[in-house]
Amino acid sequence: MSADSDGSNGAGGPGNVVKLPRTITVRELGELLKSTPVDVIKELMKRGVMAAINQSVEYDMAASVAQEMGFEPQPAEGSAATSGGGAAVAVAEGEPVAEEANLQPRPPVVTVMGHVDHGKTSLLDAIRETNVTAQEAGAITQHIGAYQVEVNGHKITFIDTPGHEAFTAMRARGATVTDVAVLVVAADDGVMPQTIEAIAHAKAAQVPIIIAINKIDLPAAAPDKVKQQLTQYEVLVEEFGGEVPAIPVSAKTKEGLDDLLEHILLVAEISELKANPDRPAEGTIIEAEMDANRGPMATVIVEKGTLRAGDAVVAGESNGRVKAMFNDRGEEAPPAMPAEIMGLDSVPRAGEIFAVVEDERTGREAAEERRRQSTDAGQLRAVTLEAVSGDIAAGRTKDLNIVIKADVQGSVEAIRGSLERLSEAEVRLHIIHTGTGPVSESDVMLAAASQAIVVGFNVKADPGAKRLAESEGVDVRHYRIIYELIDDIERAVKGLIEPVTVEVIDGHAEVRAIFRVRGGRIAGCAVTDGVIRRNLLLRVLRDGEAIHTSRTSSLRHFKEDVREVTAGLECGIGVERFESFQEGDIIEAFHTEQKG
Ligand code: GDP
Repeated sequence: MSADSDGSNGAGGPGNVVKLPRTITVRELGELLKSTPVDVIKELMKRGVMAAINQSVEYDMAASVAQEMGFEPQPAEGSAATSGGGAAVAVAEGEPVAEEANLQPRPPVVTVMGHVDHGKTSLLDAIRETNVTAQEAGAITQHIGAYQVEVNGHKITFIDTPGHEAFTAMRARGATVTDVAVLVVAADDGVMPQTIEAIAHAKAAQVPIIIAINKIDLPAAAPDKVKQQLTQYEVLVEEFGGEVPAIPVSAKTKEGLDDLLEHILLVAEISELKANPDRPAEGTIIEAEMDANRGPMATVIVEKGTLRAGDAVVAGESNGRVKAMFNDRGEEAPPAMPAEIMGLDSVPRAGEIFAVVEDERTGREAAEERRRQSTDAGQLRAVTLEAVSGDIAAGRTKDLNIVIKADVQGSVEAIRGSLERLSEAEVRLHIIHTGTGPVSESDVMLAAASQAIVVGFNVKADPGAKRLAESEGVDVRHYRIIYELIDDIERAVKGLIEPVTVEVIDGHAEVRAIFRVRGGRIAGCAVTDGVIRRNLLLRVLRDGEAIHTSRTSSLRHFKEDVREVTAGLECGIGVERFESFQEGDIIEAFHTEQKG
């Protein structure tokens, strides 16, 4: 939700003309709009279009994104802009032209972070108890993952899942719901490892931080020490000439809570958070689950527009109609208001963007399109050192983000020192987080959300972190010799590392019969292991030798066209430009990945 405040939308201004060709790749569009491809991808996703960096979008779609980012799009000379068609499946109505005029102030959305046991949950509970009005309290007792309070006539939305893990997991899906991060530090315990992590996560997301120095009721409370400690992590509180407010509070006695809330409003005011309530709603799923009685239930925070019961919606790969809505305003949710909705056909993931669409059919098509392309979308965020190096060489990026984990603080400092010297005039090297100990899930999530790579020096990765790195496509590199680490990064900064492509086998099918169909022949197969997918490459093996390599032209299970067939099932496989199957041939499905 901080899109309005973090500057990513503010690149242009009225009259800032941008000439667009008939089709343009996501990457080129990002460059023209002085923005990153990821921001462009996010805007496209909101319009129901899943496009990879190298894919092209048509003029209309590019123009809509350009407009959203504050530009005035015009067709480039010699490129008659045509409308419709192509990969674009527009789901929401285009932004009204007079969008700017309709912008109205909206409440801030706040996430509470900090070390375990420092009082995040207690603080959220205390704020809720004191500031939710009696008549609303009934509606709110049910936990929906977020709540709103009112302070001096102004509303604040709190996300009720504390911690930076959820925050960053959502960011990795492209959602930046949070406008303000409240960092809770226990006054008796001071800055601890997860405090440091939370600082890194909030900074990476460019979200303003407010420090809540909690537990000041305790005799051992030492708020000044906390402020001192924070300076070591480049968090300079106001008393030390910095810009970060530090508010002493007690979740137990409720002392200081009003002060904290007022500071949140102050920070929000500076950020000038605005949204247009008069348009089809868009927002983010912050929590979702399958309810035994009510079916898929999702808590959303509306970012723009107003969500109403009865609206047709799409959320990632889910779609449906809002059959019932649970929030404290009943039938509608304006910007920044959380609401629990019933009526989706499946459980969407937290962090998924949702949008109101014209009708259920449009929603279904958009969801289907996303399901079809979900593999591509998952790969969008994969950043490898090789890929960054290639992008640097080609002038497509000037940034390299790094998370450093090492055995001891001394190593961290040595690596940081050497790497900082590498930052060239042309390439900016950002060390977004450092720490000692094994590479954790939190590190990997931070890297996934920030398009960063993780370097581990003399440390391993937690098993969970390894799995996550694989599923998110995060490049975690391990080193035992500092020189090699520095050398690799230096070569990347100079754009010298070549990508290495490796092949991953997905499954095999054995040809049992050959069928003649209109337009050629297909092989009737049994899938013997793994999976055969429509979007994979295929190789026909005869007596262990590859006799043909191309793509799937058709994949059927009985009479149905299907996306994939798994081991143990039978299917009909068509292979592009190949017909001379023989019984006993093996069809091998595979894809390629770029690896370090
Ligand atoms: P979380 O892990 O950050 O969510 O922390 P909790 O909210 O669960 O709090 C951890 C412990 O600290 C609990 O036993 C709370 O009762 C206690 N606690 C939280 N806030 C305060 C406070 O302001 N003063 C005191 N004395 N104890 C607190």
